[in-house]
Amino acid sequence: MFLKGIFSNKKVLAACAIAVVITICAIVVPIAVVNSYDDAQPKTFAGRDVLNMVPLIDGHNDLPFSIYLVEKNLINNFNLDSNLKQHPVWSGVNTSHTDLPRLRQGKLGAQFWVAYVRCADTQYKDAVARTLEQIDVTKRIIRKYPNDLKYVHSADGIMEAYGEKKLASLIAVEGGHSIDSRLAVLRLYYELGVRYMTLTHSCNQPWADASPVDETQPEEPPAQLNNLSPWGRNVIWEMNRLGMMIDISHVSYGVMSDVLRYSRAPVIFSHSSAHAVHEHHRNVQDDILRQLEAKRGIVMVNFYPLFVGGNTIDDVVKHLNHIRSITGVDHIGLGGDYNGVATTPEGLEDVSKYPDLFDMLAEGTLRSGEKFTPWTEDDLKQLAGLNLLRVFREVEHIRDSLVDEEPFEDLIPYEEYERAGVADQPCMTDINIHKN
Ligand SMILES: [Zn+2]
Repeated sequence: MFLKGIFSNKKVLAACAIAVVITICAIVVPIAVVNSYDDAQPKTFAGRDVLNMVPLIDGHNDLPFSIYLVEKNLINNFNLDSNLKQHPVWSGVNTSHTDLPRLRQGKLGAQFWVAYVRCADTQYKDAVARTLEQIDVTKRIIRKYPNDLKYVHSADGIMEAYGEKKLASLIAVEGGHSIDSRLAVLRLYYELGVRYMTLTHSCNQPWADASPVDETQPEEPPAQLNNLSPWGRNVIWEMNRLGMMIDISHVSYGVMSDVLRYSRAPVIFSHSSAHAVHEHHRNVQDDILRQLEAKRGIVMVNFYPLFVGGNTIDDVVKHLNHIRSITGVDHIGLGGDYNGVATTPEGLEDVSKYPDLFDMLAEGTLRSGEKFTPWTEDDLKQLAGLNLLRVFREVEHIRDSLVDEEPFEDLIPYEEYERAGVADQPCMTDINIHKN
């Protein structure tokens, strides 16, 4: 009766109808708005805009080695603030991908400049002195362009330089041969501003194997499969104590695994790509990527076509997407390897091209037309620099927590030289003190 009475009242029925319409609108309209927002989201920003919000930090550039090869480190008459593509000598150098105009175009916020000397000819000889020369020439280049480059050695320093619209310039050493198995040299590199060291280049160290050992075929003579030696662990722990990031690009699979086990801080790959996308010993296997994630580290993707397994920007994006699928976006960065390689991918020819890569990732479309899940603005901020900054800050934090720890004083044992087949070193004057 009561209901009948109500529904017989036309005014009440009209009110009910309005309420139903309002309710439906309240549910449907927001869904429609969200859907149209979702559809439009990839187009609400250009990927490159992210580089105005956070610093783009590249993990690996070999410009100092190019300056050694081309200019013999004599830089007073060398002008980095010019278009080197039009320079009579540099234009003919196939490893020349960097100058100040192109760095500005590429919207770089921070660069790790690499002090590198070839292990094949300097190991057990003048590697330490030659590495010092590369650190020196890097510092001189930075000082030569104070309006564009700012020497920094901390995560805060990167942000300061970024705030001043200068390229934060950091120093790295590529290859453990540059410490000549001496922790004293490692400590002094830290004092000179070196903030990561790659444990090997392509040669084995007495205390760590390089990635080519993973390529040895069964019928070939046995490679040095020592992984990380007992003394090598001291190198890792001393780097943790100093606050120097450990770079495991270039090392063997066994060394990657050992370092991920023993390091007390997150570690980096400064310039390596994904093994599952292209099987090359310089690339990182999926199980290592998972351990890297657990260790809160970062892999900075290398663009070199030989490692990427293709010669276009699309091929690089496939590596980025694969690593994202394994580790998520919190463990990826960029380490282009410019000036360290003789060929670069179409679309990423030199340091000026990073913004194109960010645009492509935000669009979610390869040049081939193939689609992939677009990277969001937040994803791209992580990729550009926030991930590296997080790792760097964590390494600094662990350094600060270890302030009361004594330095590691161990000499590398003679047996480790013997096992590596390098106990007979004509250039070493004190080999006997390494014997018990
Ligand atoms: Zn390298």
